[in-house]
Amino acid sequence: MAQPIPQGLAHLIGLNVEFCALICLQCQYAQRPTYIYRHLGDRHKVPIELRKQVEEYTKGCPFQYDYTNVQLPSDGSAPQPIIPVLDGYKCKGCQFKTHGRDTARQHCNKDHNQKRAADEDMFELVKLQCWFGAKRGRFWIVDEANGQEQERQARRARTRDVGEETVHSDDGNDDGGDEKMSQLESRDTVPSSGTNKADSQPKD
Ligand SMILES: [Zn+2]
Ligand SMILES: [Zn+2]
Repeated sequence: MAQPIPQGLAHLIGLNVEFCALICLQCQYAQRPTYIYRHLGDRHKVPIELRKQVEEYTKGCPFQYDYTNVQLPSDGSAPQPIIPVLDGYKCKGCQFKTHGRDTARQHCNKDHNQKRAADEDMFELVKLQCWFGAKRGRFWIVDEANGQEQERQARRARTRDVGEETVHSDDGNDDGGDEKMSQLESRDTVPSSGTNKADSQPKD
């Protein structure tokens, strides 16, 4: 497992734990672990002391990847945090996906010999993400509705954590914590009771 990002670097880089991807928070795209400390200097003029901390951190990274082999989420999954969601095209004849309409048309002309076909016969409009930016894009299709549901669940989980922490760790502040929690809970009413039940069952 990768170590969490040290607090002093949390404004510079993010870690996608599930896919082991390090994200430059200013570009909002992934960088190679071996390269990100240089990127932060070249691109963002991050001071050397901070970059040394980044280098230290990435030396301990148990994973390596570049844009050709970074692991991709599956098509139709919820959007990954931080990196942008792009408009894109999915070829109707194969798995090809791209951000650019020209590229999509070129693909269909070349690979499927569809020289005069209408756009809607060749590809469908989709939402895409990619780790390293559209130019070096290996894309996957995201389902933003899926993401909203996951975000709701994550918010509920966070709210619960905050509540528990308050109870255990801070005696003087119980009222404030409870009040905050109930506000969050009530704003966040969830229509389906099924997920709630699953969430609250203890796992053993
Ligand atoms: Zn950057
Ligand atoms: Zn195709």
